[in-house]
Amino acid sequence: MGKGKTKKAQGQTPLMRQYYKIKDRHPHAILLFRMGDFYETFDADAKTVSQVLGITLTKRANGKAQDVPLAGFPHHALDNYLPKLVTAGLRVAICEQLEDPKMARTIVKRGVIEVVTPGISFHDQLLNPKRANYLAAVCWGRERSDKGWAGVAFLDASTGEFSVTEVPAEQVDALLQTIAPAEVLVDKRQRGEVQELRFQDYLLSPQEDWVFGYDFAYETLLRHFQTHSLKGYGVEDLKLGLVAAGAALYYVGDTQKGKLPHIRRIQRFRSDDFMALDPQTKRNLELVASMQHGGQEGTLVQILDATLTPMGGRLLRKWLVRPLRTVDNIEKRLEAVDALVTSPRMREHLRTELGEVGDLERLAAKVATNRAMPRDMVHLKLTLKQIPKLKSLLHDEACDTLRKLGDNLTLCTDVVERIERALVDEPPALVGQGGLFREGYHDALDELRHIATSAKDWVARMQQKESERTGITSLKVGFNKVFGYYLEVTNAHKDKVPDDFIRKQTLVNSERYITPELKEYEEKILTAEEKMASLEQQLFDELRMAVAEETTALQLNASYLAMLDCLASLAYTAERNQYVRPEVHDGTELSIEEGRHPVVEQTLPAGEPFIPNSVNLDPDGEQILVITGPNMAGKSVVLRQTGLIVLLAQVGSFVPAAKARIGVVDRIFTRVGASDNLAAGESTFLVEMNETANILNNATARSLILLDEVGRGTSTFDGLSIAWALVEYLHEAPELAARTLFATHYHELNELANRYPRVRNYRIQVQEHDGKVIFLRKLIPGGADHSYGIEVARMAGLPEPVIQRAKEVLRQLESQHLVVEEASDPAHGDGIPSRSAQPVAATIDEPDFQMSLFTAAPDPVAEQLKDTLRSLDLNRMTPIEALMKLDELRRLVEG
Ligand code: ATP
Repeated sequence: MGKGKTKKAQGQTPLMRQYYKIKDRHPHAILLFRMGDFYETFDADAKTVSQVLGITLTKRANGKAQDVPLAGFPHHALDNYLPKLVTAGLRVAICEQLEDPKMARTIVKRGVIEVVTPGISFHDQLLNPKRANYLAAVCWGRERSDKGWAGVAFLDASTGEFSVTEVPAEQVDALLQTIAPAEVLVDKRQRGEVQELRFQDYLLSPQEDWVFGYDFAYETLLRHFQTHSLKGYGVEDLKLGLVAAGAALYYVGDTQKGKLPHIRRIQRFRSDDFMALDPQTKRNLELVASMQHGGQEGTLVQILDATLTPMGGRLLRKWLVRPLRTVDNIEKRLEAVDALVTSPRMREHLRTELGEVGDLERLAAKVATNRAMPRDMVHLKLTLKQIPKLKSLLHDEACDTLRKLGDNLTLCTDVVERIERALVDEPPALVGQGGLFREGYHDALDELRHIATSAKDWVARMQQKESERTGITSLKVGFNKVFGYYLEVTNAHKDKVPDDFIRKQTLVNSERYITPELKEYEEKILTAEEKMASLEQQLFDELRMAVAEETTALQLNASYLAMLDCLASLAYTAERNQYVRPEVHDGTELSIEEGRHPVVEQTLPAGEPFIPNSVNLDPDGEQILVITGPNMAGKSVVLRQTGLIVLLAQVGSFVPAAKARIGVVDRIFTRVGASDNLAAGESTFLVEMNETANILNNATARSLILLDEVGRGTSTFDGLSIAWALVEYLHEAPELAARTLFATHYHELNELANRYPRVRNYRIQVQEHDGKVIFLRKLIPGGADHSYGIEVARMAGLPEPVIQRAKEVLRQLESQHLVVEEASDPAHGDGIPSRSAQPVAATIDEPDFQMSLFTAAPDPVAEQLKDTLRSLDLNRMTPIEALMKLDELRRLVEG
């Protein structure tokens, strides 16, 4: 802005000079500049705004300086336009007139009262009631002592939630994905680290380096919390974390002009307490967003969410993406859910009362930050009125967790009584328009209200009196904004107008007059209304401030209510969908009897039953299950349901199974076939391998790995080799020994079970009947002997000649089946590769792909046939392409 500033300053109007002065302080935000009833934007801002909002771009004269582009909208349209600007990823600074223009001697004083950004908003229109709105800040360590680490803070300004943690640098991506912030602050010097972040579906806001200085950050935190240290919050030792936290707090404070009384504490987020879920796993398991369109349709949360309060809905989402890792914590939740499952009466009572509870978390924040409107206060009161009912309901509850939640709720009786005494049950939307406070609440207000409301009677009396005095029967008292009260006389009675009427306005058919008496009364009414408005505002502020004193209690209540809501919701879903309580333990055995996929079972077409399946995994026994079966058999469903059942159990939910014993899992990893990701435009072999590498580098013996068709993104033999090597590696690297489900088309992998004791073969049962495949969907021990691809191709409608020919080719291919040899590496005489060993693919002999068809025909046609066939990527061909290719080949042979 520097150079532009001086140039623009010459010959500018005072108003534009004021504008540029303010704009200079907010160079990275769109400045909405209040002028009378409009918000105006200028220059580049105007161009952006007109584009985003689809409003007209015009010009404004600027004294002797050049005209400036201008785009604006009426102030009452802010609620409509602000969300559009912010969801377009813009920061918006709202600049208001800070004094009454009538009082201003020169130019009206203006100032920015708030900056709204994707990560910071208090506006209902911008917030999703079911979703937290996080601002995150990340600070990577650069000193010798903290290199390789990063501090991450996240803050939800709409509720006051504020947490901090430190994680190894490579986990920042996963953590950010778990939190899903709308905006992330980084030190602008740390560009290199930022580039490492893979999934940037948030607004990145680089900040000046001093914002990320330790002393500055620490001071900012101490000043805010008014403490001498941060020991009381248990975060003092998190050096990098505090830098991030300080930066986040400073940023929010700066945008809100310091109004942050609702941020009352900072919590340590212990990532070790939670199961880590990397971005692709969250996506593949479709926890809160569907893979296809990113919406909620077909997600776990959609099936599970029966919460009744917005904060309960938000908490449930957090629980789902951050399952627990300690048996004790999981058991506490399970106990509570169990209690509510076994006592339907209690559950329904609880849910009925929760149904009347509003968004206490955000209401409390609004009150504390001076944004609460009259209806918010009434809403708050109604919510708090539910608390005594909930407390007494839970008073004698046998389940500790539930009873404690009830005990912890604070009645806040003073707040309820105060609001009750003050405000009418259905107040107007705004303060200052009258009708907000109850009669009898405040004497002076009642008196002013009386004057204002008695105006009507007075007007009627005055009209009658003057009409009688003058004999003008049609005389009327009217009111308009320009002249105030007036007496209107039609032209027919003009001659009867007495001398004390003062003429003010002439219309076509009538004249308007005033009298001193009328003006005197008008003065009284108008000042009464004015006084009433300001007294109402003052009383409302007092009420709000009194309620704000209780912010901490309100916030704690909100968190307990959210927990009760989540637990009741889990119990409700468990009952409705017939889930059972899982047994969660510290061992590594994982046993699911008759498990079901929570989403698929709810979405199958009517009449199509879901077939349950059992899965047993144990690093000491059945560590790796190789699951074969034709396309469409149900392999992915078995994999995903296993992941979801484990996840649900660790969330503290009941699970869709007949019985489940879950040895706690530290991380779930998933890798789904490349083509399954086509919709997201990520179907590259490289992505597949990147993700697989991530698994191998980060999994531990406590992890659960779900691999679906790894290797599918490349040619058959490459894919098979990689898949083979992967299974061997997972079996042999002792620190990895993770429980693994490996779904594959390559029935050749069944050979692995003969070589490795902890690899087992399973297949999804299908039946062939009249040459057709019937899917039985049952997971049974033993490998599949072939992949039924051709049968499935028939079901898909491939013409019979192609099917027949394909069978013929297959028979010939199978007669030359793969030969797999023991590894002959002398360092690993047992044929087992170690972590640093050569690629295991080398231990499989190149299969003899020579077919008699070709060996008997060493002529050029055969050569050409061979080349063409070899170059075909069967995995990527459509049936039509295959058919056309076949036709082409036949013509080649037939000459
Ligand atoms: P592909 O190899 O082509 O990816 P797949 O073997 O992974 O196929 P899935 O995607 O798991 O097959 O399942 C295909 C469809 O079969 C599912 O969308 C679902 O409609 C149905 N299905 C799968 N498992 C079951 C089951 N246990 N009970 C009922 N229907 C099932």
